Amino acid sequence: MEQSLERMRRFFESGQTQDCGFRIGSLRRLRRGIAEKEPVLLEAMRLDLGKSAFEAYECELLSVYREIDESIRRLRSWSKPRRVKTPWYHFPAASRLLPEPLGVSLILSPWNYPFLLAVSPLVAAVAAGCCAVVKPSEGAPPTAALEALLAGCFAPEHVVCVQGGVAESERLLALPFDKIFFTGSPRVGRIVMQAAARNLTPVTLELGGKSPCIVDETADLALAAKRIVWGKTLNAGQTCVAPDYLLVHRSVKDALLQKLAEQTPVFYGAHPLENDEYPRIVNKRQFDRLVGLLEAGRPQIVCGGGYDEKRLKIEPTVFADLPPAHPLMEEELFGPLLPVLTVDSLQQALDSIAARPKPLALYLFTNDTARKKQVPRAAHFGGCCINDTVLHVNNHYLPFGGVGESGMGRYHGRRGFEAFSHEKAVLTNRRFPDFPVRYPPYGEKLGFLKRLVK
Ligand code: NAD
Repeated sequence: MEQSLERMRRFFESGQTQDCGFRIGSLRRLRRGIAEKEPVLLEAMRLDLGKSAFEAYECELLSVYREIDESIRRLRSWSKPRRVKTPWYHFPAASRLLPEPLGVSLILSPWNYPFLLAVSPLVAAVAAGCCAVVKPSEGAPPTAALEALLAGCFAPEHVVCVQGGVAESERLLALPFDKIFFTGSPRVGRIVMQAAARNLTPVTLELGGKSPCIVDETADLALAAKRIVWGKTLNAGQTCVAPDYLLVHRSVKDALLQKLAEQTPVFYGAHPLENDEYPRIVNKRQFDRLVGLLEAGRPQIVCGGGYDEKRLKIEPTVFADLPPAHPLMEEELFGPLLPVLTVDSLQQALDSIAARPKPLALYLFTNDTARKKQVPRAAHFGGCCINDTVLHVNNHYLPFGGVGESGMGRYHGRRGFEAFSHEKAVLTNRRFPDFPVRYPPYGEKLGFLKRLVK
């Protein structure tokens, strides 16, 4: 890997990736490569997570295609030097910002969206003109076999895919990359940041957490139930921005629980465990963790509660009236389990969100116009949907990223390009005029300077 990194560094220093035509050509090749391998990729995601072709295409391939198309369309304009103002007292100087790629980057990704979360940051890196080492998650082996796809699209000194587990990640993290882009858990995020500190490498951390969903007394409950169950059952809840738990106004709690219970059969029939369109849990370890949580909350189950160890599937399960400090409310659930907490006011919901680490996403279902403005201002979160769930992630005009415990830095669209770039600050001055006041000896010039810049 050291040799490979050295080769990539030499290639980067050759300046070839600075050329916009080169970057666009690389992205076009990647798009063609993905399109050719579409059936193989969809099958890999079915093997890894039981994702239906529709879900895998919608949530993974389509987002990558959009990122590539947007980058191809815009990267010439993103790469242009940008003039900025210069204060009058620097007359006649002019200033500009000059984006440059950070260099050789490392991309570490998780297993839940194994294609999207490895390739989407790669698109941003290539658009910005970086070289990249991609280490997909060992947790989704068939999709992690991206090596052949990437090797067919990029020269090895430009982009390489390294497969392996934690040991491989650790080995990579010890190397002096120019940028580390990590998607995964807050626990490993801390390890990544410590490793990056040794080389003063800038990091983007795309982490997770418990994303709350508020349903107030004015909400359209049928629509809320439909969109909450959709966001929660996508990838069987193994989505970093899935609504983790609900905060529901007491006056509509029973009605919402009823609608939630009715919704799952509409999507996945009476037997979701047997439905091929309903994804499975990634592995036995995650399955056992989720079943442990489900059993801990069994007395509070409103609907669902079944699971199938052979298929690694767990029914969408809703819990209500949990006692305080229940295990379901401790950590990010990352599965199809949905605790419903009752609140007596919007303020109580906001206070309970504020008492926890800042979440990656926040959802609000309301028909109250004032609250649509109030809640996004009052709460801390990475991104938010009002009267929907998850959709904000799929808008490349919105930056995607967390804050505090849910991460740092952002990407998608232009923000991805910026995540892999450094904006050089450049001031150009003229030879004349050359005002003597700035130069020593200063003598009595201080008074003059103060009057000048007041
Ligand atoms: P993880 O943190 O366990 O693993 C992510 C990557 O880190 C993998 O490539 C793995 O090889 C590597 N890794 C694991 N342990 C390591 C160690 N000790 N040292 C160095 N590298 C190590 O995450 P996961 O279980 O694959 O994914 C689930 C988590 O990811 C959840 O918390 C979820 O919310 C989060 N997530 C966040 C986003 C986002 O965009 N913000 C997206 C998907 C998932």
